Amino acid sequence: MKLLSILGATGSIGSNALEIVKQFPDRFAVVALTAKTNVVSLARQIVRFTPRLAAVIDADHARQLKALLPPGMDVEIVFGEAGYVEAATCQETDMVLGAMVGAAGLVPTLAAIDAGKDIALANKETLVMAGAIVIEKIAGRGVKLMPVDSEHSAIFQSMAGQAHNAIREILLTASGGPFLNRPAAAFAAITPKEALRHPNWSMGSKITIDSATLMNKGLEVIEAHWLFDIDFQRIKVVIHPQSIVHSMVTYADGAVIAQMGVPNMKGAIAYGLSHPRRLPLDVPAPDFTHIGGLTFEDPDLERFPCLKLAYWAGEQGGTMPAVLNAANEVAVAAFLYNRLSFNGIFPIIDRTMNRHGGKNGSDLGQIIESDRWARDTALSLIRKQER
Ligand code: NAD
Ligand code: MG
Repeated sequence: MKLLSILGATGSIGSNALEIVKQFPDRFAVVALTAKTNVVSLARQIVRFTPRLAAVIDADHARQLKALLPPGMDVEIVFGEAGYVEAATCQETDMVLGAMVGAAGLVPTLAAIDAGKDIALANKETLVMAGAIVIEKIAGRGVKLMPVDSEHSAIFQSMAGQAHNAIREILLTASGGPFLNRPAAAFAAITPKEALRHPNWSMGSKITIDSATLMNKGLEVIEAHWLFDIDFQRIKVVIHPQSIVHSMVTYADGAVIAQMGVPNMKGAIAYGLSHPRRLPLDVPAPDFTHIGGLTFEDPDLERFPCLKLAYWAGEQGGTMPAVLNAANEVAVAAFLYNRLSFNGIFPIIDRTMNRHGGKNGSDLGQIIESDRWARDTALSLIRKQER
């Protein structure tokens, strides 16, 4: 029996993970669940999965959550960052699923590692911001770090049993998002509603916009760099609109190993939770004779410059990836609230990174400080445009 703390339980990844818990009650049980503000979903999950602890963003939502629970429900409700840390470090917990969105995942994930928990990580922003610290702590504590992002799960699976020094390069596949074939001149007119309609994947809103700008792939390049200890020049992004090949690894002899599947996150989540065991899932395999074809092309960095920015931030290192991530979070939120155009996202991140310039450093305090600074800077740039 594996005891889980699920951070971001009400989200797309979190609720898929709970489906898996429901399907394998003899393998998994839930110790703690967290959400930001969606107390209605969280209350339902608490009743169904009976965790010992639940955490939400603030005292107000903790009260709302309590009011929604049936009397006599034996669950401790905590809140704020301290509450999320408590959920991530419960004494009984074996594995923490990091499925929060954004920078909020960083501190609880680090606390979980310090507490000796195995980690299944969907929250890529944590690795983007503080990859060096995460990897060092994972090694120091001797815990397991399983990728849940489908591409990284694919790379992990494609590396099984292979020597690290035989790797030539990683081929990170990308669907290309909904605007793969849209001319740049039409980008200014893209609405949030349109951008939220991803052709292949059903995901939370932030990552769906990141997929449309290709920033998601940029964040994944940085994520792959840390997870697999491969330098940036050897991580190549390939547009693959069918999303069947989840990623590939090329070896010294020219052999390429790929992992394939239909675009459904359940496989990667279940593998992250139960590695090395493969669970029997209600997920079909690709029907190759009916797919019609698998195609691959280079990304267009002129139309999707966010990808270029992410490589640059990754190469730069230090606090620059945290600045990239924070400015992106702010710009994406502004786009979703109709405060910024789709093609206004890139310039906000670009300008924030330029202002950050040489200021560097890489300890946790500096990373958190840079995250705050970048949020303020990006927001003030957006406000200036609104005037
Ligand atoms: P989502 O928006 O559907 O869910 C996010 C979850 O995090 C919710 O439970 C929400 O309540 C919680 N949350 C949001 N902001 C928070 C905050 N400030 N503090 C605490 N909790 C907060 O997101 P998602 O699509 O499930 O993605 C979660 C993470 O997994 C992201 O980092 C994303 O990049 C990554 N990921 C998602 C997918 C996918 O298919 N959805 C695939 C790969 C990676
Ligand atoms: Mg992915």
